Amino acid sequence: MSRFIETRATARFQVKKVAVLGAGVMGAQIAAHLVNVKVPVVLFDLPAKEGPKNGIVTKAVEGLKKLKPSPLGVPEDAALIQQANYEEHLEQLRDCDLIIEAIAERMDWKLDLYKKIAPFVNPNAIVASNTSGLSITKLSEALPEAIKPRFCGIHFFNPPRYMTLVELINTPTTAPEVLDQLEAFVTSGLGKGVVRAHDTPNFVANRVGIAGMLATMKEVENFGLTFDVVDDLTGKKLGRASSGTFRTADVVGLDTMTHVIKTLQDNLSIETDPFYESFDTPVVLKKLLELGQLGQKTKAGFYKKVGRDVLRFDLAGQDYVPGGQKADEVYGRMLKKPAAERLKLLRNAEGPQGQFLWAILRNGFHYAAVHLATIAESARDVDQAMRWGFGMKQGPFELWQEAGWLEVARMVQEDIDAGKALSKAPLPEWVFKGPVAEAGGVHTAEGSWSAAAGKFIPRRELPVYERQLFPEALLGESLPDFKTAGKTLHEDDAIRLWTLDDEVVIASIKTKMHAISPDVAEGLAMAVEMAEKDYQAMVVWSGDEPFSAGADLQAMLPAFMIAGVSAVEGAEQELQNTMLRLRYAGVPVVSAIRGLALGGGCELAVHSARRVAHMESYIGLVEVGVGLVPGAGGLAYIARRAAENMAQSTSKDVLPFLTEGFSAAAMAKVGTSALESRKLGFLLESDVIVPHKDELLFLALNEAKAMARGGWRAPHKRLFPVAGRSGIATIKAQLVNMRDGGFISAHDFHIASLIAGVVCGGDVDAGALVSEEYLMAMERKAFCSLIEHPKTQERILGMLNTGKPVRN
Ligand code: NAD
Repeated sequence: MSRFIETRATARFQVKKVAVLGAGVMGAQIAAHLVNVKVPVVLFDLPAKEGPKNGIVTKAVEGLKKLKPSPLGVPEDAALIQQANYEEHLEQLRDCDLIIEAIAERMDWKLDLYKKIAPFVNPNAIVASNTSGLSITKLSEALPEAIKPRFCGIHFFNPPRYMTLVELINTPTTAPEVLDQLEAFVTSGLGKGVVRAHDTPNFVANRVGIAGMLATMKEVENFGLTFDVVDDLTGKKLGRASSGTFRTADVVGLDTMTHVIKTLQDNLSIETDPFYESFDTPVVLKKLLELGQLGQKTKAGFYKKVGRDVLRFDLAGQDYVPGGQKADEVYGRMLKKPAAERLKLLRNAEGPQGQFLWAILRNGFHYAAVHLATIAESARDVDQAMRWGFGMKQGPFELWQEAGWLEVARMVQEDIDAGKALSKAPLPEWVFKGPVAEAGGVHTAEGSWSAAAGKFIPRRELPVYERQLFPEALLGESLPDFKTAGKTLHEDDAIRLWTLDDEVVIASIKTKMHAISPDVAEGLAMAVEMAEKDYQAMVVWSGDEPFSAGADLQAMLPAFMIAGVSAVEGAEQELQNTMLRLRYAGVPVVSAIRGLALGGGCELAVHSARRVAHMESYIGLVEVGVGLVPGAGGLAYIARRAAENMAQSTSKDVLPFLTEGFSAAAMAKVGTSALESRKLGFLLESDVIVPHKDELLFLALNEAKAMARGGWRAPHKRLFPVAGRSGIATIKAQLVNMRDGGFISAHDFHIASLIAGVVCGGDVDAGALVSEEYLMAMERKAFCSLIEHPKTQERILGMLNTGKPVRN
């Protein structure tokens, strides 16, 4: 019996509480993310020399509330981080199942701390270091024997809430199940993407990524390009993070970056890395450090913002000169060509910008191929690390494979032979001969290439991955595709209705930004019909972002131009009917939300029986931005929720319950996380918030089936009280102040007054009972009056033309 319990305990490693040691840039943000995903956390730092002993941690926690982008789902949750110091609170470590060390990057300091905490570490706890560059094995050598098997590296990327990548690194003494246990928690519990890295300097992502940045800076010198042009070339156009090369460095901090470069310089040599000579700290970086210009944190680095102008540093003059120069347009066009053609065009380009682009891509292929055998288990880890840790659309191997494996290999080798590459090291033999050459690349249906093992190896099969029905696939892998998986029940340009299990109808919107056009509405209604007839439940889910950016204004315009406002009114009513159809369906409808759920997307979500939302869900009614009011039941929802919330209290006054919803709609507030979206009233306590985007469908299906099996029934259709004319008067009095104080325009005032009119139920007594249909009719009237208003038309056209809101 006791043995049985023991095996179960190791198999089910549960993280009930985490300790984070070090409340610096990383530690504090990791603690914040743990709070976001509902994991209790205690954050330690050194005792303060003066004042309260927790002073250092307290300051760090306060700092979290001001940081942008916010590490916390809602700033006030900073209070949930338990504060501690090593002098008074080490006993608290005993309750922690996971201890993440994130103190300053010094081996001796880390080892001292490990000695200090060792007596307090729970025997079942995992202890892991967030070091970016120190050897995990060396760190582990100083640990007591009892901790060694449960020690490993856990390398988060900054900012940890938003960066997907976490590298896990074992040592020769780490017990194999420890990494499996941690991988399950980091994936499902924290929502991150795990890459297992070898214990080599800077692990996988920073090794390839920072070597890539240094190589890029070298080529910038070679080709004599300016930072702004390089950033224009190496950002979005190249399928990389939009901040490009130098602005990324400014954001990271030039001191931090120098530190990571130093790790490469200190831990490698020309013997261990044939590219070593290109790891010199670039002259311009040295100069900027000397001048104390460390990037964003000192308000000057490669760039400096002066008023509205962004200046760039000029090494020759050692001063800032006007920036904002763009790359030649021809390269933007080249970068849009199919991969094979693109690489050839760049390689043969006459101009320095094209040659520069080819050079940095070639260097990337060269570096990744030469090091694959030592730094990673397989090419999949390298490509995933570059996607998740450096925001690349594709990793180097994927692009190489897409462009034609052997052809690109030949071009790279030619450049190496001609002395154009950064190292003379030839491409490894596996590139040209054997399974990779035969398969035309490193990613195949069988698995991804392991240069160390000399074979293709499949993805790790851990139970946690069964929750990812459609994991993010790399080019060349053959994983299930949500676009074709399961059994299609209906498909057109707007929507696909399908099922995976003959129990739940899945509705996947296909339009651009998953906008809700009349065809989408029709498809959703069809899905309800089907589900009611032959299935148990319905889930609205798409395999790609966003959930839905809203109603399709573009689709509505032609009808408006031809048939005027009556056509729009008809379309609005159809949309509202669809929302009611979803709400009162005979089967539970679950919306699986990820990314934006705006306007009509938000209305679709709130009319579902339940929402399963990824932590990074941004939900709101934003119609005011285009001079409209929510017109597909959004305002009726706000009024109904206010009445429902009042019904939970002893109050007889709806108005106080309406304020939050009214201002969310009138000010077009969008939640900056699922947690904040819940505060705005667009998610409920009973909704599910999911850390990992790829688990969304699994959990939505589970939820839908559980609801169906639990005997779910649609809510009663009932009348509910509204705030009436006195409510309108109160809200309007405040709006008048805002308008007269110059906070809102006359047109904003007009729209907000219309919103107040609808959510209060119009010219009726306070407490009068109304129906959703009654409110929806008011909503339509307000919507249609606005669509004919010149100022609203100005806002709509502005948005359609420039994508930016017009303020009028
Ligand atoms: P930081 O300098 O912001 O914070 C370090 C913290 O360590 C401070 O709160 C400090 O009080 C504490 N500290 C300093 N000396 C100590 C000692 N002797 N004993 C105990 N605590 C001490 O550092 P950071 O950027 O958060 O980095 C922390 C760790 O995370 C490092 O190992 C770093 O390599 C790694 N890391 C950093 C980043 C990044 O982008 N900054 C990314 C990934 C990993």
